[in-house]
Amino acid sequence: MTSPWRATVLTLFPEMFPGPLGLSLAGKALAEQRWALNAIDIRGFAIDKHRSVDDTPSGGGAGMVMRADIAAAAIDAARASMLAGAPTLYLSPRGTPFTQAGARELAQAQGVILLCGRFEGVDERVLEARNVEEVSIGDYVLSGGELAAQVLIDACVRLLPGVAGNEGSLAEESFASGLLEYPHYTRPREWEGRTIPEVLLSGDHEKIARWRREQAEDITRARRPDLWEKHRKG
Ligand code: SAM
Repeated sequence: MTSPWRATVLTLFPEMFPGPLGLSLAGKALAEQRWALNAIDIRGFAIDKHRSVDDTPSGGGAGMVMRADIAAAAIDAARASMLAGAPTLYLSPRGTPFTQAGARELAQAQGVILLCGRFEGVDERVLEARNVEEVSIGDYVLSGGELAAQVLIDACVRLLPGVAGNEGSLAEESFASGLLEYPHYTRPREWEGRTIPEVLLSGDHEKIARWRREQAEDITRARRPDLWEKHRKG
């Protein structure tokens, strides 16, 4: 058997893993060894008797900064334990936005090494010296990289072969074809005076597909003009 997709997470809070990744789709796939998770405690690479991993920012200012030497030792150990072909990413609000296309690309790699920041972040030199790419999960600031790492891992894991219960749904969901998804309905047929659009009860698959396509286009145009422009330009 080939080795499963592997996420190695470098964190000061290894006890946050697997966390929600141990439940539902991702959790079942983890138990079935369709993917593997290794949370490594960065503090294990500390070199002083206080096991410190951070220090005051050069130039002054608020907060603390994670030390380059400690973070580098953790990255080196993670790389030694991984197959080649797994990129090292630092979760960071300054990073390239993480997208569905990014998730697809990562899911096809051997796995990923994720460096989770805390405090003000990590010493810039380690990012340069170890060629670490910065990735953001959105334009807001979290208190640590762990939740961001979990978001990224979840988005990748559900794309791995055999993980999603119904792989057909992956082809139609939001972003798959550059559009947001059409609305869903299920029984009861009438609820609080609201009915299911007639076309969905018609049994006419062509008509249903056309209606869903139009809905997806309308929703994307209204909610995400940026995506709509991209889609229109092809
Ligand atoms: N001083 C940093 C700045 O202004 O860009 C914010 C540091 S934040 C308090 C601590 C850590 O949380 C970061 O090092 C990063 O690992 C993580 N983090 C925060 N927001 C994030 C986001 N939007 N995407 C990914 N990681 C994030």
